[in-house]
Amino acid sequence: MPKYNIPGPKSAEFLQMSEEFEKGCTSGQSPIIWDSAEGCVVRDVDGNEYIDWTSGVLVTNVGHCHPRHVKAIQDQVAKLMCPYDYRTPERSLLAKRLVESMPASAKNLDSAFLLTTGSEATEAAMRVAKRHTGRHEMISFWGGFHGRTWGAMSLAGKQGTKKQWGPLMPGTLYSPYPYCYRCPFGMTCDTCDFFCASWLDNIVATESIGDVAALILEPYQGGAGFIFPPKGWLTRVQEWCQSEGILFIVDEVQASFGRTGKLYCFEHENLTPNMLCLGKGIGSGIPTAATMFESGMLEGVGEMSSTSGGNPVSCAAALAVFDIIEEEKLLENAQTVGAYMLGRLQGMVEKFEVCGDARGMGLVMGLEFITDKQSKEPAGDLCKHLCDSLVANGVVCGRVGWTGQVMRIAPPLVITMEQAEQSCDALEMTLGEL
Ligand code: PMP
Repeated sequence: MPKYNIPGPKSAEFLQMSEEFEKGCTSGQSPIIWDSAEGCVVRDVDGNEYIDWTSGVLVTNVGHCHPRHVKAIQDQVAKLMCPYDYRTPERSLLAKRLVESMPASAKNLDSAFLLTTGSEATEAAMRVAKRHTGRHEMISFWGGFHGRTWGAMSLAGKQGTKKQWGPLMPGTLYSPYPYCYRCPFGMTCDTCDFFCASWLDNIVATESIGDVAALILEPYQGGAGFIFPPKGWLTRVQEWCQSEGILFIVDEVQASFGRTGKLYCFEHENLTPNMLCLGKGIGSGIPTAATMFESGMLEGVGEMSSTSGGNPVSCAAALAVFDIIEEEKLLENAQTVGAYMLGRLQGMVEKFEVCGDARGMGLVMGLEFITDKQSKEPAGDLCKHLCDSLVANGVVCGRVGWTGQVMRIAPPLVITMEQAEQSCDALEMTLGEL
């Protein structure tokens, strides 16, 4: 018997309203309507409580409505919300904090451009890459996702993202990402010597007009199905960029602010990006984003503003996020609880025929569903059924991948070991009932 009958009556009412007035404008996860949340627990409008495995799509890293975060936002809202062209202490303090937070390998990133959405951050990086190099081509990856604005969408290699939107940005080249569970070259990552990274030479030789400005990548691919490159692959790609004289842009809109157990995901390989895109977790619920640049890329040129970028409310929220991550040791929590959860998921891969692969880093994991281990046929419908059943059993989760076959497991970084155990038990029970 499921714990809850979903949707409850109030959820059903709002879902119907949403279907009538937001036709085609929502993303269609499980049928509940969120009402309130604290930490790692979400409540729907019917009063049902769930452990959150979504963080609202990897946003609320410090937990929902963290009292210190809420207080910082409330105090700022009551004081000043929007000066636009004029600067505020909060804005300067956040820019300083961001620059100072860069690890030793990335001290070159000494300038913060403050924005509100991840798409804006990747667009800004692309614009500056073109202007700074005087070249116009961009390399991105199969499966990649960098946002929904036109330029960002043009960079996407995620299946379906670009369908029927007409001609996209000229000069975008795409290379294979190391999806080792389904290697596009049929190789295995212990012996391939990063063959797909070497493939970049072919892309340039066959597709480029010799005008590549930059390469942009996610340090792990989120939307494509939580695909984590083997250790060393990112370094290899960075070296390739350096040898070609191409800018190396890392899109950490979802991978940063502790998600993988380090403040920035690129720290796992001590990379030195020429630009870094940040979003989601930086504001932990208040729309905030930033692109980090090297000196000399922006000065004296201008034309980079954004009406709400660097607004004092976002800045106050992000400053509180930095404090909470540090003081509550959320990086350590992401490492320990994440390791436990990944272990549980890997146990499920051994136990259940329909669990094909479990992968992750810190508190971001994907569990890929298949029809059977022999064919590895992606099982999107099955994953949908499982997500709905898991929600009914008290855990909210989401789905990604081109058929929606990958369960997205990314709780707020404040998740306790007890909540991790309880939610993994719920998944295992749901799978057992299948
Ligand atoms: N880059 C990455 C890696 C993302 O995951 C996303 C959002 N899912 C974006 C960019 C776009 O961010 P936003 O939706 O805030 O525009």
